[in-house]
Amino acid sequence: MKIGFIGLGIMGKPMAKNLVKAGYDVIVADKFAPGAVEELVACGAKAGSSNMDVGSQADIVITMVPNSPHVKEALFGEDGAAKAMKKGAIVLDCSSINPIASREIYAELEKQGIEMLDAPVSGGEPKAIDGTLAFMVGGKQEVFDQCKDILAKMGSSVVRCGEIGAGNVTKLCNQTIVAVNIAALAEAMQMGQMCGVEPQKIYEAIKGGLAGSTVMNAKAPMMMDQNFQPGFRIDLHIKDLNNVVDAAKTVDAPIPLTQTVLEMMKILHHDGNGSYDHSALLKYYQKLSGETLHH
Ligand code: NAD
Repeated sequence: MKIGFIGLGIMGKPMAKNLVKAGYDVIVADKFAPGAVEELVACGAKAGSSNMDVGSQADIVITMVPNSPHVKEALFGEDGAAKAMKKGAIVLDCSSINPIASREIYAELEKQGIEMLDAPVSGGEPKAIDGTLAFMVGGKQEVFDQCKDILAKMGSSVVRCGEIGAGNVTKLCNQTIVAVNIAALAEAMQMGQMCGVEPQKIYEAIKGGLAGSTVMNAKAPMMMDQNFQPGFRIDLHIKDLNNVVDAAKTVDAPIPLTQTVLEMMKILHHDGNGSYDHSALLKYYQKLSGETLHH
């Protein structure tokens, strides 16, 4: 079986490397990142001359690109992979995109007899490198059964959440929970310091209780260090929360907390902080209070 991999960015490059390490025959393409293509070739992958070339050779094409326009371009653009994919081949889209777009993309692929799973991930670059990502998958059970061993080479958790689009609905839930958590953490740490308690003590005292979380353990030290190197960029989180807003609108779901944190992130973006880690939500509070969080 040959696996195509399109999009060798922060996440795609280590994910593709793990497939090569697992012994799969992998062909890669990323027209904007020739250095990453060379790196994969040095690990044992083959370089496709275009997305279409990858599509013509692969039984399964994995896409790991920023958002739905990029997935559509990679599959249906001028050199789109789907133009050359065989009937019965499978697209495994691991990008975090709007679930409505996942369903539109599948409807196009289905016309050509191509199957698809939406399989976004949680975990970030370190887990992509370790092969311990969490996959949230949407699509037919029989297609999932064909692909789950491949996903398990890149992740430690692979859960089918429902039909096509269900993976990205679940990812949007994940992104709302993370965003609101980070904002609550920043708000509380800043308020606690302003009321006279050392942030390090606040963190130590509450991390083992109900308020403790993976978000707290990962982001509280970054906030106290004023270290906002990504990680996961504010701009990518804005993309995800905009997708939450779009998806929620279609079913009239109330999302006041998501809307509030999205507005805070947009302000940070306009202040030039879009490339920082989402823990930089703290900067919103620091700007309003005029006080910097310390250890
Ligand atoms: P990235 O910007 O680092 O990488 C995207 C890659 O796609 C780039 O190398 C780009 O050149 C390539 N690309 C774009 N359009 C293409 C096309 N038409 N053909 C071929 N290649 C194309 O992004 P990333 O951080 O790797 O994120 C990828 C996806 O994973 C996003 O949807 C993101 O939201 C999601 N995600 C990211 C993280 C994270 O921590 N970075 C965590 C979980 C999920």
